[in-house]
Amino acid sequence: MISRDECAALDAVDPLAPLREEFTLAGGLIYLDGNSLGPVSRAARERVTQVIDHEWAEGLVKSWNSAGWMATPTRLGDRLAPLIGAHAGEVLVADTLTIGLAKLIGGALSLRRDRHVILTEIANFHSDIYIVRAMAHFADRDVVVRTIAREDLAANLDSDVALVMLTHVDFRTGEMLDLAGITAQVHDVGALMLWDFAHSAGAVPLDVTGANVDFAAGCTYKYLNGGPGSPGFIYVRSSFQGVLENPIPGWLGHARPFDFELDYAPAAGMQAFVTSSPSIVALAVLDGALDVWNRVTIDAVRAKSLVLTDLFIDLVEARLPGVFTLATPREHARRGSQVSLRHPQSYGVVQAMIERGVVGDFRDPDIARFGFAPLYLRYVDVYDAVEHLVGVIESEDHLAPRFAVRQAVT
Ligand SMILES: *Cc1c(COP(=O)(O)O)cnc(C)c1O
Repeated sequence: MISRDECAALDAVDPLAPLREEFTLAGGLIYLDGNSLGPVSRAARERVTQVIDHEWAEGLVKSWNSAGWMATPTRLGDRLAPLIGAHAGEVLVADTLTIGLAKLIGGALSLRRDRHVILTEIANFHSDIYIVRAMAHFADRDVVVRTIAREDLAANLDSDVALVMLTHVDFRTGEMLDLAGITAQVHDVGALMLWDFAHSAGAVPLDVTGANVDFAAGCTYKYLNGGPGSPGFIYVRSSFQGVLENPIPGWLGHARPFDFELDYAPAAGMQAFVTSSPSIVALAVLDGALDVWNRVTIDAVRAKSLVLTDLFIDLVEARLPGVFTLATPREHARRGSQVSLRHPQSYGVVQAMIERGVVGDFRDPDIARFGFAPLYLRYVDVYDAVEHLVGVIESEDHLAPRFAVRQAVT
């Protein structure tokens, strides 16, 4: 088994190690929840201060022009595009992930008017299921949502299917689906493919161009560290631009918003998917948060992520044999950047870990979830986290009565 000294030696030669200094993490904290809410970075603080103190305080309304505020959703989309393998002009940062999905689902339904089925999977995130059912309900024709088991996808693909919507990395188990393979299967029956990248963007390399993905959406507060509730993003392949309609139009997606025309005429490109005034302060945080990607590639992040997660799995199995069941696939190609452990008292385990300064989270019914963000995590953090886990299990802290009642956010 690897020793703590050997972990420290890995940190000493880690090319990503200096990036940790860009982030604010309270002393001693081992943060394994960057897959839920990433930490604040120095660049994010600086950028938001500049926007508030100069562009807003001094420039006031003039900044819509002089500071380029109107172009922020497309400009940040272009900054984000390389992280998902998209071209400039194919990504927009606006709204939230669920709203982004609504726009893409609504648009896709009107591109396949002769088809009436949407497929998604039963293990998908509940918000994704709510919004896909709502968009089907409010469609201008009868549309059926089939919420199927993952392994039944092929059996359900036929010429009735208009759209398939799947989340690329499972939020519970961390399983990663085959982006290119599934997209090709879906295209084979003439359906459209929409991917949710909530747990993928900033965590694993994505190639929407190579995989021929039609549409995708994601959020920016997880591995992209854009801050609580930061705006989401949508991707629309260039061949669908000018074709896919925005079902939630607003004045700022109009070709000429300041002509105040009563008839809607969409702007060119991704601007057509803008509805409302951009959230300039929130976008400023994200703008700063994206600076770290000027210094590191997603491939380097992925390489370290796989070593961190392998290390965590190996240490848990060596130190606590038989205590947890691994819910995350071991194969690298089938794993995102989190490790999920099943245990009957997972909620108590996670809470007891938090008391010891190791932050993970709990997902119903029995999953203790640990996210590994290579931008700021050290190998020794993984070692120490497992030592704390051993301490919790050996002391039976996780069985304490104070963990019997769950908090609102788990
Ligand atoms: C985090 C997450 C969301 C959250 O959606 P918001 O609209 O940004 O609150 C949705 N779907 C998945 C799969 C997620 O992991």
